[in-house]
Formats: sequence, structure tokens, C-alpha cells
Amino acid sequence: MSSKHAVLREVFGFDDFRPGQEAIVDHLLAGRNVLAVMPTGAGKSLTYQVPALVKGGLTIVVSPLVALMQDQVAALKLAGVAAETINSTASREENVAIWRRVAAGEVRILYLAPERLMTDRMIAALQRIGVSLIAVDEAHCISQWGASFRPEYDALQELRTAFPGVPIGAVTATADEATRRDIVEKLFGGEAELYVAGFDRPNIRLTVEPKSNTKRQLLAFLEGRPSESGIVYALSRKSSEELAAFLSDNGYRAVPYHAGLSPEKRAEAQELFMAETGVIVCATIAFGMGIDKPDVRFVFHADLPGSLDAYYQEIGRAGRDGKPAEAHMVFGLQDISMRRRFIDQEHEEGERRRREHKRLDALVAYCEAPECRRQSLLSYFGEAAAPCGNCDVCINPVATVDGGDDARKILLT
Ligand code: ADP
Ligand code: MG
Ligand code: ZN
Repeated sequence: MSSKHAVLREVFGFDDFRPGQEAIVDHLLAGRNVLAVMPTGAGKSLTYQVPALVKGGLTIVVSPLVALMQDQVAALKLAGVAAETINSTASREENVAIWRRVAAGEVRILYLAPERLMTDRMIAALQRIGVSLIAVDEAHCISQWGASFRPEYDALQELRTAFPGVPIGAVTATADEATRRDIVEKLFGGEAELYVAGFDRPNIRLTVEPKSNTKRQLLAFLEGRPSESGIVYALSRKSSEELAAFLSDNGYRAVPYHAGLSPEKRAEAQELFMAETGVIVCATIAFGMGIDKPDVRFVFHADLPGSLDAYYQEIGRAGRDGKPAEAHMVFGLQDISMRRRFIDQEHEEGERRRREHKRLDALVAYCEAPECRRQSLLSYFGEAAAPCGNCDVCINPVATVDGGDDARKILLT
């Protein structure tokens, strides 16, 4: 049995959970039922796939469309997971062969349409084999109130009596209040953990500017912010040291933080930051895990973050008290080519490398977008939003960052 973080990293290739994912994973691992409502693109599949692999045994995933099931199974197989689907498009022989493997305990995640799962024979067979976890994807289909009620989903009400004690995770992108109540009533008999996510953090102003002279740009940014607590993220240990020294020389209370410092030094920096206001931590990504300080007023990215996921997580450390905060990034073309080189060094040619380049493309697109930053960030997580009126693009539409032809060339190489 591996830990959830090991599964996330080794099987799926992600360093961190996205917002909300971990809480859902934890509930399921603790044996509790969960209904999760998260926007499309938020990463709902992982919320049941990770616990499925941590628990071991057999997980059943109910999904309404054969095409969806096939996509997921194909992606899981690419990641080396023993996933299968039994469905009407496969031949009888194929389905029998898969079923034998399920019965022999060789399959970790089995995708089934509700009408195939909810037959007496299938239920009895699965009860004999034993089931560790059940996931119901597109769970709104069970509700009469949802736009896409599927009568076949109605039978899923029997799951909790057929598999007592087996945790059920239900996920959906679209469930208003009435639909949620209906799902919880039908699937769980009225009791479940509810997780409803939205990604927007409207009090964080998002700004990006082309990198020219990072130190001067940092000073200019700090000008109107005397004695505010903040984090400056840099790519290397060396530049986190340099920026901290530079800020100290300029009268700020700044400390470096990176994995090269001794545990005592790191603890000292973190304690100072937590205990007082007006301390600026100049850090690599080593800083942040478990930092929950409500009054962090800014996060300044002196270098490009690793991805939009990383960016969202890093800026999310600002403004937890709900008061205005700012996430500012200086964005340089050299940063992009360096990131591209990192990716090529780290990953062999293939699916993984292509995926990493695509994630970088999304980040570059965010930096260069002539549209509202919040809109473009949220749309990456599948959430629609109106222009925010509180980012540099909304405030000053002409002055968008344009890397121009150079940026495009780098994107294409
Ligand atoms: P949903 O079902 O909520 O619409 P998916 O499960 O299909 O979303 O995931 C959407 C995308 O997000 C996928 O490309 C997936 O690989 C990616 N994703 C999911 N979790 C993470 C994570 N923790 N870090 C980075 N990317 C992730
Ligand atoms: Mg999905
Ligand atoms: Zn905006």
C-alpha cells in the first residue's frame, strides 16, 4: 500500500493535489462517503482514482457514457494502472476475459455503466469478490432535478445496502442545492461529507509584467507596501539568497528560505514570518507547504512558476483573511526557454514530455493573454467567470504583456 502522495507522483506524475482533491481523498480513505461538486477540469477523476490505488483491492466506477469510460481506462492503462471496462461495445468474449481477471483480483479499477452494475448477478458476483471503494461519476444523473436525469442511475440507490461499509464517492460538476440534496438522499440515505469547490479568490489581484530588471521591479512593487508580509518566489536557492540580501540592504525585513538551508535556519525563518507582520520571505518552492498565515498581503514571482497549477497554489497563500492581496509576476522569455530545457532534460520523448510542454504553454498563454487574468486562470480549472475588474488587464486593457514574435517562436520550438 503506497501513500496518496506517492500514488499522485508515481502513477499520475503530479507533485501536488489541486484544491479540494486531497480533502476528498482523505474522506474516502477514512471510509466516509463524499459528494464533491467541482467544476469541469478541476480534476475529479483523481479524487477516486488515488484512493482506489492506495486502498488496493477492487474499485468500481460508475459512469454514464461508454466513451467517457474508455477514455479514462485508456489514460489509466497508459499510467500503468490495471483498469478495465465491461460494456456493450466490446464482444462477449472480451467482456468474459476481463471478468475473469476481475474475479482473479487482477483489476484495480473497473468502469461500469449503471445498468450493467445494477443487475442481481453482477451485484452478487461483486459481493463475493469484495469491493474496496465505489465512485459515481457524473452523479447529478441520479437526480430528477438535474438537467440530465438518467433513469438507469436511479437503481444506484441500492448500492449502499448492497455494499454496506464500502465508501462511496460521488462527483459532479453541476449540482445546485436541490440536486445535491437529492444525490445525498438517494446515494447515501441523507448523510455524506459535502465538498463544494469554486476556485475563485477574488480578493487576490492578479498582475503580470515583462521582466526587465527583477530587483528594480521588486523594489517598485514594494514601494507602496511598507511593512506588509509577503512571499517572493524565485527559481534557485542562489537567487532567493540574493533577493533577501538585496531587500535587507534596502531596509526591508527579508529572509531567505530554501531546501539548502539547515532545518534550524528554515524553522527560524518560518517562525519569524508566522509570528510577525512585515517579514518578506524570499523562497524557492520549498516554502509554502502547510503555511497558513492569514495576512500575507502579496506573493511576488521573480521567476516563472512551474505551471499554472503551481502558480495557483503559490498565490493562494496570499489573502487568506479575505482582505485585498496581490499576486504579481515578472515574466521573462528566458524563463520559458529554461523551463523548456528542464522539461526536455527531465522527461524522455513521449507522452509525459508532451504533456509537460502543454502545461507550460498554458502558463505562457496566461502571461500573454489579452484577456482578464482571472478569467484565463479560472478557465484553466474549468470555471467560467466574468472579467474581474481587478487584474492588470481589466484595469489597463492596452498595457497587456506581449512577448511578441519571440515568445511565439519559443512556443513553437
Ligand atoms: P473533471 O473530471 O473534474 O472535469 P479531470 O479529472 O478530467 O477533471 O481532470 C482534468 C485535468 O486536470 C486532467 O488533464 C488531469 O490530468 C488534470 N489534473 C487533475 N489533477 C491534477 C493535479 N493534482 N495536478 C495537475 N493536474 C491535474
Ligand atoms: Mg470528469
Ligand atoms: Zn480581470
